[in-house]
Amino acid sequence: MRYAQIRRTDISNGIGIRTALFVQGCTRHCKGCFNQETWDFDGGMEWTVDVEDEFIDLTAKEHIHGATILGGEPFDVPNRKTVKHILQRLRMEVPEKNTWMYTSYLFEDILKEDPEILKYIDVLVDGAFIEEEKDMKLRFRGSRNQRVIDVPKSLEEEKVVLKLS
Ligand code: SF4
Repeated sequence: MRYAQIRRTDISNGIGIRTALFVQGCTRHCKGCFNQETWDFDGGMEWTVDVEDEFIDLTAKEHIHGATILGGEPFDVPNRKTVKHILQRLRMEVPEKNTWMYTSYLFEDILKEDPEILKYIDVLVDGAFIEEEKDMKLRFRGSRNQRVIDVPKSLEEEKVVLKLS
């Protein structure tokens, strides 16, 4: 996998002070995407064991509430396996930190294609960015169709439960 950027402190992509990993590569190509430089799967930088260790260590810091993985598209096939591995490591090594993931795939798609990955995600912001639905007043999402989903509750109740409306 390749990645575009790591932010050591991010307050825009989830509740609290967070680390953020922007993966490289996206097949969705939403009209009006804010991050088009992350579309090319050959762009960005190589994701190595050292970078991964650093990301875990940064997330472990006391003032950090959790980690957010976004992109690019974390759930596109070339990124999916590594993203799942990172989420598993976060859950095992820093279980006190919560995990958010942004994806253009729907919760229901992920439940069908790789339900196991959901065990390692606390909040999923799902759905493609739709320019016509753009609303600057929304918290932690760009367009009205996107949902901020409480994943553990949704799995428990077997229906989508929103974290924020
Ligand atoms: S999924 Fe994200 S990175 Fe990909 S085009 Fe849509 S907004 Fe841009």
